[in-house]
Amino acid sequence: MFQNRSQKPLSRRKNLFINMEQDKDTQQRIEVTFLGTGTSTGVPVVACDCEVCTSEDPRDKRLRTSAMVKYNGKTFIIDCGPDFRIQMLDNKVEDIDAILFTHSHRDHIAGLDDVRGFNYILNKRIAMYGQQNVLDFITTSFPYIFTNKRYFGTPQVDLIPLDGDPVTIENSVIIPVRVHHHKDIIFGYRFGNFTYITDASHIDEEEFKKIEGSEVLVINALRNSSHISHFSLQQAIEVVSRIKPRDAYFVHMSHFIGKHADVEAKLPDGMHMAYDGLKIIV
Ligand SMILES: [Zn+2]
Ligand SMILES: [Zn+2]
Ligand SMILES: [Zn+2]
Repeated sequence: MFQNRSQKPLSRRKNLFINMEQDKDTQQRIEVTFLGTGTSTGVPVVACDCEVCTSEDPRDKRLRTSAMVKYNGKTFIIDCGPDFRIQMLDNKVEDIDAILFTHSHRDHIAGLDDVRGFNYILNKRIAMYGQQNVLDFITTSFPYIFTNKRYFGTPQVDLIPLDGDPVTIENSVIIPVRVHHHKDIIFGYRFGNFTYITDASHIDEEEFKKIEGSEVLVINALRNSSHISHFSLQQAIEVVSRIKPRDAYFVHMSHFIGKHADVEAKLPDGMHMAYDGLKIIV
């Protein structure tokens, strides 16, 4: 069903290995936890009795897509969807330093109110980064947070706009990657040799350059058939085959993609179905 991606030339692999060894001295390791790997409905889908939604394999239970990236000793959360609270609890997250938004769709922002736990317990505000249009949408979607007549106990957040240029947050350089999501331009993020992209349907040539050299790439793969605003699995495989990271992980899957174990077994070398709770070291 899938083409095996071309093998990296041995010399390049060797170079990568040497670079990785050098990086251990010069660069902090990056730890990534997949907090959620499902599309906007989550899996199981409410009221669905398909074989994926009724699977007993815990890897077929997918909360809405989000990830935690520990980089240079700081904790970044990418997106804050409706499952944010349970994702923080399931993964015993005790502190976060910033939330980075990819875009303003509900499945990526709906859990924002639940940063209150961090506000209350740690007595700190939460910094949230995204494109100005995303922050504007958040402001109108959660008006009670941003009004002058705030109700006691509402979330305490700081919204900080990103213009798409590399940005230093908490002493770490993070590179936004602009990708198409149907008619919208949304952000992926690159941290060192790790790039995270979700909800993409097309990537322009100049943005590919920002992703090249990534050791680990996360990319969205909705299902097998094509979709207007999301890469299919085959399209996601094509992106990975071009970038040739050491490992690639697919996210934002719907129940139509099939069961984790069945799909994983057919993927080319180095490509994986991510699943909720999976932790990787880059
Ligand atoms: Zn989404
Ligand atoms: Zn289903
Ligand atoms: Zn979306």
